[in-house]
This record gives sequence, C-alpha cells and structure tokens, in this order.
Amino acid sequence: MASSSSKLTLKLLIDAKREKVLFAETSKAVIDFLFNLLCLPIGTVIRILNKKKMVGCLANVYQSVENLDETYMQPDLHKDLLLKPSASVSSQIAGLLPSVNDTSSNNSTNVFYRCPSHSGHVTSDNTTRCPICRTSMNSRLIFVGEKVANEISADSSGFVKEVVTYMVMDDLIIQPMSSISSITLLNKFNVKEVGVLQEKVVELDMKQGVNILKASLQSKTVLTDVFLKNHSAP
Ligand SMILES: [Zn+2]
Repeated sequence: MASSSSKLTLKLLIDAKREKVLFAETSKAVIDFLFNLLCLPIGTVIRILNKKKMVGCLANVYQSVENLDETYMQPDLHKDLLLKPSASVSSQIAGLLPSVNDTSSNNSTNVFYRCPSHSGHVTSDNTTRCPICRTSMNSRLIFVGEKVANEISADSSGFVKEVVTYMVMDDLIIQPMSSISSITLLNKFNVKEVGVLQEKVVELDMKQGVNILKASLQSKTVLTDVFLKNHSAP
C-alpha cells in the first residue's frame, strides 16, 4: 500500500516531571489521519483492533455475526456487509491503518452483467434473464465504483488545510496552533518551570496508528499512553 514518502511526525511537548504529554505540534497529514477515524464504521474498527483488544461488548456482536450461519441471513445479504463494511480512507494516510477495504478478496463482486441490448438493468449472476426481452444478461461489465470513489474522496486534499501547524492535546482536542494558545496552555497546565519541559519528535507509523485508534476509545491521555508509556498490545 502506497503511503506518503515522507514520514509523519509529531513534535511532543512533554512535562518530564509528570511524564505527561502536554500537547503535540503536527502537520495536516496527521490531523487528516485523526479526522479520518470518524469515517470508520465500527465493524472496521473492531476488525482493525482485533476482537480481544476491543473494549466494551461490541466485539461480541461482531463475533455473533461471524458465528451465525449464512442460512439465517436474508437471501440477498452477505455477512461481509457487517463484518467488512466499506470505509473511506484517504490514500495519503492509508499506510497508518491496516488495509480496511479488502475488495481484492472478493473479486467476483466486481464483475456484473447486463443484457446485450438493454443497459438499464445489471446483475451479478450471468444466468439472469433480462426483465425486458428475457435474453440472458451475459454482457460483462466491470465495476469501477471503488476506484472512482477513491479518486474523489482520497485525493491529496484530505480534510484540513496545509498552511497551518496544528496542535493536538493529549485528549485529542485539535486546533490550529498559535503562539498565544501555547502560552495560555502552559498556564493552564500550571507549568511553573519551563526547565521540566522536553521536546521530542516521534514518528507515526501503522503500529502507532492502530494504538492511537485503540487508545482514543478508552483513554483521555492518548498521546501520553501511546508515545510515552509505549503501550503495546495488552
Ligand atoms: Zn434485454
């Protein structure tokens, strides 16, 4: 999967005494990654985190769908609709989460058929008869919907503008950076000695992308958890 060539980084401002990230300065791409988390269907989140790492009971719902025999599903529906919902992920940040759309595993659904004479109806089964003239709908059509969707939603523009540096708080409150706000923050955090503050640049890769997603569901100190405490999978 092609991710952007330059590595994504966050510059953390750390209170070394309290071992806490006060906030991080970062670029558009990292913000796009965080905002993109809002676009993930819960089924996809559970799949990325694995059922064991998922907090709460939703993973049990997921497991139940997995276990349920196909015969209980409505005839036109496949369980993958629930287990592998399609998610929109910008190509720039796609490398930060495991592949969420494995359409490749299901190539057969990307081929459709129509009547040689009538193009108004489409089927995935080439033995279907045209509702208009009753001939077999066997003219092959290639489904390009995914690619078109990618071009629209996942172009380089992402969600936010590139011109500013963004500030991410430990609890993932995000705002554009300004010098006034960082001074206000130092007051708010009650930092009396600037000497205890450390700067540390960290890289964001897929492992940490997944850890951020996981921490964001259960913690109010996400950056501290992921980058200082080095929480790996429990
Ligand atoms: Zn026809």
